[in-house]
Amino acid sequence: MLAVRAHEPGTPPRLEEVPRPEPSGSEVLVRVGGCGVCHTDLHIVDGTQDRVALPVTLGHEVAGWVEAAGPGATDAPGPGTPVVVFGGWGCGSCRECAAGAEQRCAASSAPGFQADGGYAEWMLVPHARHLVPLTRLEPARAAPLADAGVTPYRAVRRAEPWLMDGARVLVIGAGALGQFAIQYLRTVPDAGSGLTVAAVDLAPGPLTRARELGADHTLMAPDAEGVRAELGGPADVVLDLVGADETLALASGAVASDGLVLLVGEAGGSLRFGFDGPPVEAWFSTVAWGSASDLRDVVRLAETDAIQWRTETMPLEGALDAHARLRAGSIDGRLVLVPGG
Ligand SMILES: [Zn+2]
Ligand SMILES: [Zn+2]
Repeated sequence: MLAVRAHEPGTPPRLEEVPRPEPSGSEVLVRVGGCGVCHTDLHIVDGTQDRVALPVTLGHEVAGWVEAAGPGATDAPGPGTPVVVFGGWGCGSCRECAAGAEQRCAASSAPGFQADGGYAEWMLVPHARHLVPLTRLEPARAAPLADAGVTPYRAVRRAEPWLMDGARVLVIGAGALGQFAIQYLRTVPDAGSGLTVAAVDLAPGPLTRARELGADHTLMAPDAEGVRAELGGPADVVLDLVGADETLALASGAVASDGLVLLVGEAGGSLRFGFDGPPVEAWFSTVAWGSASDLRDVVRLAETDAIQWRTETMPLEGALDAHARLRAGSIDGRLVLVPGG
């Protein structure tokens, strides 16, 4: 089968012919219907991403159809069932896994990072509990839900205690993740329509889309003063979907005392922490992907048309072109690689 594999940090991934895997034990073989192309894939290729085991088949944003299951996969959906693949593959027994946060498990692996992922015609999933069945959406359409869709969902869910009626929210990065985040903000119970939401980006296209999806204000590359002026005060919640030094500095400069900054994007930035830095008593947290339960929620929202997102499909063989386009920033939505597409 065809697979796009990363071998050495700093060298382009290669399209290769590799053996089709066979499921054993509890494993499920999924025929890939689509795999989203994420900025994190670029970080993996560049060698700037932590916890990666090369060589590896890229791709952590996968949906497809159940093809076959190992003899121990007694709870696997039947062959042909369309599924989204949850990518935080925990041990299943530690405290994090028991709490339903398998993506935080210290022993976890993830497709496209340490295990072979979805830039391929087929992929192995270690257990049927990592599959979320689809009832209506096509896999190539649903693939972005597995990462771009679920990660901002988790961020908004974790921010809910701060999202009171009248709260000011800054969303940094109005690409695919930001567009999902804005829609989730609008559905927060008792607060969605009462929030003031500003979206920030470096390009006008995503900002136009952000406004269509519910952002009250859009700003191109502002400073913290500009954000505060536009929001009418400091932000109660900042979602940094980029995660560069510059965006974290903007987040820290725009957040209120006792406000919350959630770091979602993995551009590798960092922020100095101390009394001479952010506003006093502001809260800072990273967001770890999403849980399986978060992904089930997002699939439910998607299948009832409660959220919108844009996809553009490209053939699997076009993976390198897809990376070049992502680096150039010329994408509005999510690129999805489709085997045989
Ligand atoms: Zn990703
Ligand atoms: Zn675990």
